[in-house]
Amino acid sequence: MSDNQTPSPSMAGMPFADVSDPDPDRNLARVGPDPLADAFLEKFTIHAGQAGPMLSGTEAGEAYRARLVSPGGPLAFYVHFPFCKGRCLFCGFAGKSPAGGLGESYCRAVASEIEHLARATGPRGPARTVYFGGGTPSSLDPADLSRVLSAVRSCVPLANDCEITLEGAVHDFTPASMDGFLKAGFNRFSIGIQSFDTAVRRGMGRVLSGDEAAARLSEVCSLDMAAVVIDLIYGLPGQTPEVFSRDLEVAAETGLDGLDTYQLNVFPGGELESAAKEGKVPPPVPLSGQGRYYALAWERLGRKGFRSLSLSHYARSSRERNIYNPWAKRRRDCLAAGAGAGGFLAGWASYRRPDPKSYVDAAARGEFAPDFVTAPPSSGAIISFIVGEMEEGRLDLRELVSRFGPSPDALARLLDNWVEAGLAEIRDELLTMTVAGRFWGVNLTQAVVETLAAASGS
Ligand code: SF4
Repeated sequence: MSDNQTPSPSMAGMPFADVSDPDPDRNLARVGPDPLADAFLEKFTIHAGQAGPMLSGTEAGEAYRARLVSPGGPLAFYVHFPFCKGRCLFCGFAGKSPAGGLGESYCRAVASEIEHLARATGPRGPARTVYFGGGTPSSLDPADLSRVLSAVRSCVPLANDCEITLEGAVHDFTPASMDGFLKAGFNRFSIGIQSFDTAVRRGMGRVLSGDEAAARLSEVCSLDMAAVVIDLIYGLPGQTPEVFSRDLEVAAETGLDGLDTYQLNVFPGGELESAAKEGKVPPPVPLSGQGRYYALAWERLGRKGFRSLSLSHYARSSRERNIYNPWAKRRRDCLAAGAGAGGFLAGWASYRRPDPKSYVDAAARGEFAPDFVTAPPSSGAIISFIVGEMEEGRLDLRELVSRFGPSPDALARLLDNWVEAGLAEIRDELLTMTVAGRFWGVNLTQAVVETLAAASGS
């Protein structure tokens, strides 16, 4: 399962902030006693970055085909499975539709799309990371997933140490299905937990109790056959800091290799917002209160021996490498297949609509063109550099200037403000985000992108 809060493995279709008319003062933080709560009034976007012009229809198909045959080196491979047994209250995954009984035909259709890709691309690879995301791919028959993974293997060579991830819901990871997933070749399991608190879980529509989820997760970890990572969300209805603190403790006790902590996004007009307004669930934690949870995770996980790999991701063992998400955030080459899948080639993003039935019908007609593509932004290389660096809570200003040539003065006002507001420290031309800066990291990243785009006139 994907938390579908942030970041989505299928990020190509996600909107980036509109930077056509940026307000430079929006990017200045408020200076006050509690930057975790008060530095900004909002998060400007879910994914920092900038997209170029969008093409659809025939133009999209032609642009995509041209990129498929462009020369390429290492890449990622993403396969999307829009299959969920129910709908979680917090999910903002537009167009998700449970697709009962369609699993086998869907996997055959995906395998045929991958065979089509193999014929259409020039020599490519190796693939450094393969990601089966969704949706809930773990709900499908391991034999069907194995067929799709075999198709990926025959499309591109996989690196010997290729990270091969299967996303899923914890109740799907039974001893029998685990056997099938491991035999298929998955070496990393990304499991959506969100909280171990039974009341919080039930409020969000989760199947297992907190204790059952922890026990199942411990069983998966105890096999010691693959990296196991989970998602936790903070800010859920009824999830007090004490509940979240317990979530972190239980997670650490299960023996997992890594975890993501994502903030809750309440989508306007979404089911969670309606349920809270109607009093069906307690009010979610507002943005001004979420920073406290972020800092709690930073402190508790550090104490437990987890190290930070990105603004939201922590690893405890050397088995966990977290290759896919940073790869996609940098918009590096990623072939993609399946309904709702998004990929990148030569900076171009491609996206398919997420309805699995239409996808299967189109595959039967041999139609695999994306529904739309976006061209790279004019300053794509510098944006990828900024997003990649700042996702790790840092920005090497010296390298930024020497590689891409922006005037250091362009960022001076911002950086001075962020240091004063307690969001960043700068030493020897290296910006390092504080814990509060990391919580507001997407704003800082978007601000640097917007400011340099405005300074360059792009
Ligand atoms: S509804 Fe499906 S995609 Fe959305 S959060 Fe739940 S499991 Fe993930």
